[in-house]
Amino acid sequence: MKVAINGYGTIGKRVADAVSLQDDMEIVGVTKTRPTIEARMAVEKGFDLYVAIPENRVKFEEAGIPVKGTLDDLLKIADVVVDCTPGKLGVNNLETYRKAGVKAIFQGGEKHEAVGCSFNSLSNYSQNLGVDHTRVVSCNTTGLARTIFPLVKEIGVRKVYATMVRRGTDPNDSKKGPMNAIIPVLKVPSHHGPDLKTVIENIDIDTMAVAVPTTLMHLHCNVVILDRPATSEEVISIWENTPRVKLVDGGEGVISTAQIMEMARDLKRGRSDLNEIAVWRDGVHVVGDTLYYYQAIHQESDVVPENVDCIRAMFRLTEDNLGSILKTNKALGID
Ligand code: NAD
Repeated sequence: MKVAINGYGTIGKRVADAVSLQDDMEIVGVTKTRPTIEARMAVEKGFDLYVAIPENRVKFEEAGIPVKGTLDDLLKIADVVVDCTPGKLGVNNLETYRKAGVKAIFQGGEKHEAVGCSFNSLSNYSQNLGVDHTRVVSCNTTGLARTIFPLVKEIGVRKVYATMVRRGTDPNDSKKGPMNAIIPVLKVPSHHGPDLKTVIENIDIDTMAVAVPTTLMHLHCNVVILDRPATSEEVISIWENTPRVKLVDGGEGVISTAQIMEMARDLKRGRSDLNEIAVWRDGVHVVGDTLYYYQAIHQESDVVPENVDCIRAMFRLTEDNLGSILKTNKALGID
């Protein structure tokens, strides 16, 4: 499949690299709005560059960054566009993609209702088979789906209470904060709970969220009321067999998100990303039918393999989700 990336930023450049590593899809072009260092580096990496705002084309020429054309030109040669523009902007492009006859994937910054469909590789791949437009849910919702869906399948879940401790902003962002504060989301449930319902039907979940001064990862404190009593060992064993969930141990010195990201750096993956959800093995506690656990989300990268699987579902390249998940994981070198 010929894939276009509209919005070559934090998520867009990662999806471009991940798609390039697959044998059943290729990047035909990426867009930038302005001639930044990211635009220059996209060209140096070998991606064809297109201008998202046609009036800005001359600025690229002045900066000596070669462009192949505009977004409209790119859409003419693409089968699918992965829209990675900033949250709430992407959906403005829906009509453009429709008119161009190109399938489109949006990101978690867009509302489910605006797109009409949402995607998570593990929990609702089959609902996305053949669709023209969908949305890969946010990094936090992806993290919740990865660990909660296997519990729904294997044990049964009556109720989830989850608290999201969110990173203030991404490491490359020098404008946002908080720098010295903890900001609670006063609306309860926070948007994460309702969002999970778009990819796991009938899940009963309430969520709260706070933003804290860190850029590395999000951390979730989750309480799950199971359908029956279980043990920590049973739950851990379920997650050991779940793709894109990585058990880490406080006992081995992984006592915070700092050591998780150090582990990711040691793994020598591209950009030191950790596409898997990290769950603390020694933070898993089951008391009767109640499970308590902590998980950490690398916000910049957990949704990246999901975008690859989403392309396969939309074009029915692989009919079953596990086939696509394992293929993507192998190409990216992840668990
Ligand atoms: P970003 O700001 O890092 O990148 C967005 C890119 O889009 C930038 O290159 C920007 O120049 C470009 N852009 C801006 N306006 C544009 C336009 N009109 N047309 C084309 N390109 C335009 O943002 P991001 O963090 O990559 O987020 C993209 C989407 O992914 C959002 O919906 C966001 O909610 C979602 N998401 C972000 C994260 C994260 O932690 N960064 C995690 C999961 C999902």
